[in-house]
Amino acid sequence: MDGTFNENDLSRVVEADRAHIWHHLIQHKPFETNDPRIIVEGKGMRVWDQKGKEHLDAVSGGVWTVNVGYGRESIAKAVYDQLMKLCYFANSAGSIPGSIFAEKLIEKMPGMSRVYYTNSGSEANEKAFKLVRQIAHKRYGGKKTKILYRDRDYHGSTLATMSAGGQDERTVQYGPFAPDFVRVPHCMEYRKHELDGAPEENFGEWAADQIEEVILREGPDTVGALCLEPVTAGGGVIEAPEGYWQRVQEICKKYDVLLHIDEVVCGVGRTGTWFGYQQYGVKPDFVTMAKGVASGYAAIACMVTTEEVFNMFKDDADDPLNYFRDISTFGGCTAGPAAAIENMRIIEDENLLGNCAAMGDRMTGNLRALMEKHKVIGDVRGKGLFLGAELVADRATKEPAPEKLTQAVVADCMAQGVIIGATNRSVPGRNNTLCFSPALIATADDIDQITDAVDGALGRVFG
Ligand code: PMP
Repeated sequence: MDGTFNENDLSRVVEADRAHIWHHLIQHKPFETNDPRIIVEGKGMRVWDQKGKEHLDAVSGGVWTVNVGYGRESIAKAVYDQLMKLCYFANSAGSIPGSIFAEKLIEKMPGMSRVYYTNSGSEANEKAFKLVRQIAHKRYGGKKTKILYRDRDYHGSTLATMSAGGQDERTVQYGPFAPDFVRVPHCMEYRKHELDGAPEENFGEWAADQIEEVILREGPDTVGALCLEPVTAGGGVIEAPEGYWQRVQEICKKYDVLLHIDEVVCGVGRTGTWFGYQQYGVKPDFVTMAKGVASGYAAIACMVTTEEVFNMFKDDADDPLNYFRDISTFGGCTAGPAAAIENMRIIEDENLLGNCAAMGDRMTGNLRALMEKHKVIGDVRGKGLFLGAELVADRATKEPAPEKLTQAVVADCMAQGVIIGATNRSVPGRNNTLCFSPALIATADDIDQITDAVDGALGRVFG
């Protein structure tokens, strides 16, 4: 393009996008004839696109991120003030917002103790994976390097996190992957018929026992950690059934397997408690988080661990290899923790955890009511404001509704001015679960507007 680029000339922005942007996670062929969508502005629960059209955002920035809503002046101000004071210094030195946020965060996480700052959820997970490997070498003579991950869970886009990837749609064609990542079965009650031998009763315990079987098959002395999402996000919004988490904890203890909970989506309020694992009484060894930590106002992710793990790296200070030989350049950016402190204050002062739980109940109720009317909804599930509605062609067989029709529901909602998502990236071409994750500030009217839009869309697409 020639001439001066004027950001107020949105047709030039669209042109530049078509010419130069490679968007995340989508096929670009349609942009040869359709304009890409540019999101220009956001306020509260709503965003505006390049055509000036207003959308109610029911997915918090598309991927469960903007937990406190758009246009928070106090976060922008906290970041501005911090940047003018000190924008960056490598995190081998400390920073004022880094220390303050770490203290506040640990107050919300009894049993946890140390915060390692990094940039993205993937990277936070890699830090934990690296620690597990290093512990295996330090403590177990190079054994216990295996990391178990679950079918349908997602832990990131890098090669090591894809090696722990339970969603085939994301991993096929990107191999070969890193060794010593071992898959365990999912724990999805609604699709338990797809698992050999799954019982009608006590499915939660049974699903956890499958993890024990994998540990025994691999050899307990080779398994270092188990990495799980508290509520599986992109794999179809899946909450584990009763009895699951207690058994998981017992199994980890029994075989000396470290428990890594990936809170990249659930963390910082999404399920109605500070962290998803706190709903289930779990005691993790590692917790990773990213999206909601600063609600997208700055890039920040954290890998949090216990004093016990931390102390393993202090005990032999004369050994030149006995420390965590890892760095993340932008883990030293101060904008992230400055934004995160203010983000946390907002959640507390505005009682957004309480609102999340209450609005989550309302939305669950609305979606269950839609089940009565639309046979295509086979299941409604999730926790807090993190919900999914799985669409099926047949309730009896649970055959998934075609992805194209699920996408047509999403497109119809978009035309009505409501942005929702569709997920279940576990099986390529089977994204048949509508997903909802509005900001934690959602009101009853917002929730009703979202579910009314879904009602209309389902009627038009499925009749
Ligand atoms: N873990 C989970 C559960 C996620 O949903 C995601 C991102 N969608 C990640 C990890 C990776 O985070 P990031 O994209 O920030 O690397």
